[in-house]
Amino acid sequence: MRRPLVAGNWKMNGDSASTVDLVNGIVNGSGDVANAEILVCPPYILIPRAADALNGNDAVTIGAQDLDINGSGAFTGQISASMLVDAGCKYVIVGHSERRAIYGESDQDVADKFSVAQEGGLIPILCVGETLEERESGNTESVVARQIQAVIDHVGIEKFDQAVIAYEPVWAIGTGKTATPEMAQEVHKYIRDMLSALNSDISNNLRLLYGGSMNAENAEALIGMSDIDGGLIGGASLQAESFLAICKAAN
Ligand code: PEP
Repeated sequence: MRRPLVAGNWKMNGDSASTVDLVNGIVNGSGDVANAEILVCPPYILIPRAADALNGNDAVTIGAQDLDINGSGAFTGQISASMLVDAGCKYVIVGHSERRAIYGESDQDVADKFSVAQEGGLIPILCVGETLEERESGNTESVVARQIQAVIDHVGIEKFDQAVIAYEPVWAIGTGKTATPEMAQEVHKYIRDMLSALNSDISNNLRLLYGGSMNAENAEALIGMSDIDGGLIGGASLQAESFLAICKAAN
């Protein structure tokens, strides 16, 4: 049985006060969410604030939005896996479409980050998804397969027993346009079948999240699909009320 996961990607939003408010708000409302796992991924500098606000409460888990592939040294501005673990992170997002598009991360860069994250004791959330142009030209499956295959080639299918995949159609991120539950399910099933051909146990146990304008209104229908095991949430994760509504839908 796959435990649902709802992950909030705060992106570059918030400050100390809003972090404490948001974490407290989520914790206070999490009593109705016993089954689903709740994760928040603040900006690096606010991770310790979130950890302090939690004060050991395990109702909410903390993750990061990215990491560097190096362990330590002369890499100005970067953050390593061990620093994230030290700050209280359990998960890290790798290959978010904003990192791929704005910062030029390649499939190989993402595979390296996936591997370094796991070696450092973090669970990577691997983001994959097609642009609108790729969807309209009928390439959704080939793009998603290429992005996942790059990681499999680098680390092996077995490493997906300690990982999460988030399918996030780029055209749905931050746009208010959501994939229909059927569209999302079709790609999730494609991903699960692809992994199942390599290792059915790993495929059956792997959590596949949907991301892309998921909100309080559409979450239940999306997460109700058989291969959708939760969500990676951007905008709607910045308010406790909307984020909790999604967590309850996943529960
Ligand atoms: C995201 O950035 O991962 C995301 C899903 O954003 P939003 O929910 O705002 O579309």
